[in-house]
Amino acid sequence: MPKHFSKKLHCDIAIIGAGIVGISAAFYIKKQKPDASVLLIESGQAMALTSAQSGENYRNWWPHPAMTAFTERSISLMEDIARETANLIQMNRRGYVLSTRSSDIDVLMSELYHGYSCMPDNQIRVHETAGSTHYQKPVSPDWETAPSGVDVIKHQPLIRQTFPSYAQDIQTVVHVRRAGSISAQQMGQYMLDYFKEQGGTYVSSEVIGVEKNNAFIIYGANDSVQISAAQLINAAGPFINDIAGMLGTSLPVTNTLQQKIAFEDKASVIPRDMPFSIDLDPQHIDWTEEERHWLSEDCEHDYLLQKMPGAIHCRPDGGDNGTWIKLGWAFNDTTTMPERNPDLLAAFPEIVLRGAARLNPSLKTYYGRLPRSLHHYGGCYTLTEENWPLIGPMSVDGSYVVGAMSGFGTMGACAAGEQCARQVLGQELSGYAKALSPERYSDRNLMSEIHALNQRGIL
Ligand SMILES: Cc1cc2nc3c(=O)[nH]c(=O)nc-3n(C[C@H](O)[C@H](O)[C@H](O)COP(=O)(O)OP(=O)(O)OC[C@H]3O[C@@H](n4cnc5c(N)ncnc54)[C@H](O)[C@@H]3O)c2cc1C
Repeated sequence: MPKHFSKKLHCDIAIIGAGIVGISAAFYIKKQKPDASVLLIESGQAMALTSAQSGENYRNWWPHPAMTAFTERSISLMEDIARETANLIQMNRRGYVLSTRSSDIDVLMSELYHGYSCMPDNQIRVHETAGSTHYQKPVSPDWETAPSGVDVIKHQPLIRQTFPSYAQDIQTVVHVRRAGSISAQQMGQYMLDYFKEQGGTYVSSEVIGVEKNNAFIIYGANDSVQISAAQLINAAGPFINDIAGMLGTSLPVTNTLQQKIAFEDKASVIPRDMPFSIDLDPQHIDWTEEERHWLSEDCEHDYLLQKMPGAIHCRPDGGDNGTWIKLGWAFNDTTTMPERNPDLLAAFPEIVLRGAARLNPSLKTYYGRLPRSLHHYGGCYTLTEENWPLIGPMSVDGSYVVGAMSGFGTMGACAAGEQCARQVLGQELSGYAKALSPERYSDRNLMSEIHALNQRGIL
């Protein structure tokens, strides 16, 4: 290790990584113990890696009640911030709609009941007949007046009337009401400003080594800084395993590259009041005969002729008066080494457009003519096999991880940061805390319950 450092710093708690998750941990430590000496160290710009790629969506819909309780808590914390800041974080709530061409939805219903079993009764309302007058149409994007619970609509005319832009073959929709979008960048900036105002220290440097003696010694690149800390929080996003490796341990995570597109809907084909809309059904992509021929001769891309998984999604972006839309499809399950500037799949915009046009046929207007100003972006989902986060102690005494936040790190950041803060400060933990910490792997019953789930909640 280098011996001469331009700066030597000491703190009680050092956090590596200033993405939304590390910033949230810093924010909640300062909220709960303002005099704690906390240092946040970041190699690039704050909020510029995975956190800059987020679709910025949130929902309380999960296949297991522990994850539902976790995101419920996170949404409540985001609502607190929205309230405190006159909605600086642009929180809205038009819900998530899960749509399917199937009317036999027993499996989906039992997943819904199981996932929401931690919630009060009567959260799931089923509308099967024309007399279903108690379905509340999404009128306003305001999160404070939006309904909660879930509406399952099995009545075709009600589906057509409420969501006229959807394909006519949709038989069932599930409208999850406590769901919507926020501005992740605004939320990150707000929490970071608070952290600094409360005396938190922010250091720009890449961590290249960590040692544990009596305290942790953290080494910055180019001999820039040496930090000693009594406790260490690993919030390095896609690089959490690299930091764990510096401590001689490892974490059960992999990375997959996921992508999104956003573009201006100049033809106004997507209604501005449409909720975040998911097509649950697997599909064969709507290629032309000519495209099928090209793809069949291209061994790198011929998988695009096979049946593709469901869960493609589309939503308006920029509020009711905006003009942009966002499309995403997390179909890639090939693991990769994390990179700061990953190569994106050039064909992704046309792939996701065609996939999304199955639920939103008016998107066909853009086949082969997506606007040049289109924004194509992507980053890593860092995830455990079961797609649950890791928030808790690592195997080296005094070290913690807060990460593996997959495609839910924006919506889960507040509850993850709060839980991490409570662990580090030795405070009382919530009921779901153990299940979301690395400790869960020693709970055989919980692990077999998780492995028995039909789906992992990856979107
Ligand atoms: C395409 C896409 C869409 C998504 N959509 C959503 C969504 O709609 N809703 C949602 O809730 N979530 C979404 N997510 C997930 C969410 O963006 C992530 O879970 C979240 O941003 C992870 O935050 P993080 O702080 O853990 O990681 P990051 O944002 O990656 O932050 C980690 C930080 O650690 C720093 N770092 C790493 N190594 C070092 C080192 N050695 N020294 C110093 N600093 C270091 C990095 O520079 C980085 O700034 C999406 C993700 C992707 C990729």
